Amino acid sequence: MTRKCSNCGAYLIEGDFTCQVCGAKQDISNFKTKKDQPPTKTEKNNLPMIAGILLIIGGIIALITWLSLTFTDPVAIEEIVMQVSGSLSVENPADFADLLYQWLVICGAAGIALSILVILGGILAIKRIYWGFTIVCSILGLFLIGPFLISSILSLIAIIMIVKAKNDFT
Ligand SMILES: [Zn+2]
Repeated sequence: MTRKCSNCGAYLIEGDFTCQVCGAKQDISNFKTKKDQPPTKTEKNNLPMIAGILLIIGGIIALITWLSLTFTDPVAIEEIVMQVSGSLSVENPADFADLLYQWLVICGAAGIALSILVILGGILAIKRIYWGFTIVCSILGLFLIGPFLISSILSLIAIIMIVKAKNDFT
């Protein structure tokens, strides 16, 4: 809290009634304490926080989905393949089921890793740090898919918000 001389504008010492620079007597009414910096309205944009929440929700949904797919019982897959093998004209259903299961595990592992990255991106968005990394995570979120594409859609919305809110990141 500093006061200024009503005559020359020099800063006054706390409690001083005469200016140290020009000697002008200070009017009591001018002694209203003036803050050095006017209170700047820090209007914080909510976009990073909303985007972060969307990424975390999408990431968690995708994580659960990919986890359940990865740990699907291979026997169950084989049964399904057996049931539909007639209409798919699969030559060797057992081999096909095996291949399908392997792909599911590989895709599942990739999906789990991606989901974790996207959740991390969501946390960074809420904290408003590492914009570049956050945008990469949200773009990766497009590949999360999830039930009814929900995780990809949430990531897409988050990307738009994070791009718009670039200046809010530090
Ligand atoms: Zn003065």
